[in-house]
Amino acid sequence: NMATITFIGLGNMGGPMAANLVKAGHDLTVFDLSSEAVKALTSEGAKSAATIQEAVEGAEVVISMLPAGQHVEAVYLGDNGLLKNLPSTTLVIDSSTIAPETAKGVAEAAVAAGITFMDAPVSGGVGGAKAGTLTFICGGEADAFERAKPVLECMGKNIFHAGPHGSGQVAKICNNMLLAILMSGTSEALALGVKNGLDPAVLSEIMKQSSGGNWALNVYNPWPGVMEGVPASRDYEGGFLVNLMNKDLGLAFDNAVKNQAPIPMGSLARNLFALHANEGNGGLDFSSIQKFYYREQN
Ligand code: NAD
Repeated sequence: NMATITFIGLGNMGGPMAANLVKAGHDLTVFDLSSEAVKALTSEGAKSAATIQEAVEGAEVVISMLPAGQHVEAVYLGDNGLLKNLPSTTLVIDSSTIAPETAKGVAEAAVAAGITFMDAPVSGGVGGAKAGTLTFICGGEADAFERAKPVLECMGKNIFHAGPHGSGQVAKICNNMLLAILMSGTSEALALGVKNGLDPAVLSEIMKQSSGGNWALNVYNPWPGVMEGVPASRDYEGGFLVNLMNKDLGLAFDNAVKNQAPIPMGSLARNLFALHANEGNGGLDFSSIQKFYYREQN
């Protein structure tokens, strides 16, 4: 069941996601401020347009994958925003990671314009975007979710409905805050063991089989050389950048303040990753937080 889709924002994530929609046979038009990003997709068989308004003409579904909340608001709200230009039959899916309040604001404006909107941030990184195995975490009406599901399945493996508007963003923020805590805790335990002369591979195996086992330890070990194929074993290149983790921890922190929610562990993780970025590690994978706990002494 092929649809006419417009994809806006063809960066590290959006580019490969859009390519998977073309591969699935959808009629895809793309738009990005970068003409190079557009060119990469037209060479895969997507159509391009001179303006964003032109790009969404005739679209049944509009998907956006933009850096942050301000970009999402710029695209959808205001007199030149897409919500003023789209027919009410359009399904709009925003997969950017943004504050739940911002997503709710755009959703309210969409509802006022009679347009169906859903927040659908993703987990799985650039690797998951390329492989088409992303996890989509959706917030919106149940019928919007059912309409979106077959389209999202061309780009992802697990498609969740978290709840009403904004819930996708809330669930994403909770997950990434927990991930940052688990990665920090795992790095801390490994460094303590090594300071005592333990082999990090042996200690990892013991903790994996014991009650300390967790995703960071089990499949994304932060100690160089313990596990093959993870960023720690290639100088922390590739993977999920410290800068992006910092962005998500900032969203969690802001949200906790707004909701008067205590997040002592999340706040500590946010500061650890901010200090780590300040030391010039923002462009490394987030498992490089290991370096914060342990350095070879010569
Ligand atoms: P990116 O910076 O690589 O890409 C963003 C793209 O949006 C760029 O090509 C930019 O030119 C384009 N853009 C910006 N403003 C625009 C506008 N007004 N109109 C059209 N295009 C515009 O970012 P990314 O890594 O692809 O991330 C996108 C979103 O996904 C972010 O919210 C990020 O937090 C989230 N995310 C990223 C990852 C990851 O590993 N990179 C993982 C999960 C979620």
